[in-house]
Amino acid sequence: MSDSPISCTVDLDAQGRQLGRLRVPRSTNTAGWASVYVPIVTVASGSGPTVLVLGGSHGDEYEGQVAALNLARELAPEQVSGRVTIIPCLSMEASAAGTRLWPSGANFNRSFPGSTDGPANEQLADFLTRELFPRADVVIDMHSGGRSTLFLPCSHMHVVENAGQRRQMLEGMLAWNTDWHYLYIDVAGTGLLPVEAERQGKVVVTTELGGGGHVTAATHRISQDGLANVLRWAGALEGEVETRDDAVILDGRDPANYLFAQESGVFEALVDPGEPVTAGQPLGRLHFLERPDREPETIEAPLAGVVAGIRAISTTAQGDSVIVLAQPIEADAIV
Ligand SMILES: [Zn+2]
Repeated sequence: MSDSPISCTVDLDAQGRQLGRLRVPRSTNTAGWASVYVPIVTVASGSGPTVLVLGGSHGDEYEGQVAALNLARELAPEQVSGRVTIIPCLSMEASAAGTRLWPSGANFNRSFPGSTDGPANEQLADFLTRELFPRADVVIDMHSGGRSTLFLPCSHMHVVENAGQRRQMLEGMLAWNTDWHYLYIDVAGTGLLPVEAERQGKVVVTTELGGGGHVTAATHRISQDGLANVLRWAGALEGEVETRDDAVILDGRDPANYLFAQESGVFEALVDPGEPVTAGQPLGRLHFLERPDREPETIEAPLAGVVAGIRAISTTAQGDSVIVLAQPIEADAIV
């Protein structure tokens, strides 16, 4: 792609195992002519699907980054039919800083479709949009609640318009074999990576693998086992696909499920992820450090459901997300 400012040291169409990097140009106070390097690994053998595995779109979501690193290190061509291309961490500097956003303030997951002459995040997004997505059949984009949110470890999806694409995305989501799955809508802006890949007709499998500023050993196992099973389901990785029939799909498509703080304060959770709640039930309280005389503000459930995610940072500003609810739904109702 001659007009992209991003250069790539691996041949995205060659057979075998290659380790390389994307070079994103930058210029700073301490290095006028500089680069950010984003490692990329591709493992290809024979014919089969191309699966793109992405971690670290948000810097402080380490579940997917670790799963992708383990996969990138261990995957051998003889295990693969087709191609697995892995970028363990898209947002290198944000990951190093332990932040969701890039040091520039950019949100990589709001940078799509990207542009060649925009800031670095848009240049990298453009490379994915025009070079990596068109080559892929399946795009796996691993997120978690990051520092700010404790989410039920789950795979999730947009309920896309196209019935064939939707059915495959449902199968891919279920193949993660998490206890919970989640149907989500975008409540905070546009320019998301999955939306661009979906627009290109790709089967997109995404996750919210926990979060809250800590990754448990159990969540690492869910991340890595699920990723491997989705690769087997896609037909790119050898081995038997594992299935289960006791997982719960949660439907978060009603905008009333997303609760935001109406004023600033210190958040107290009254429920935990996975708990069923009734309409009107108190879910949390906001306290006011400067007003010990003032009663805390109670946040009630506007509708019945299950707690899918909850704020993990106590300090809360007006407008911050505090609770995410959803309602159980059968898979038949989605296809
Ligand atoms: Zn994320």
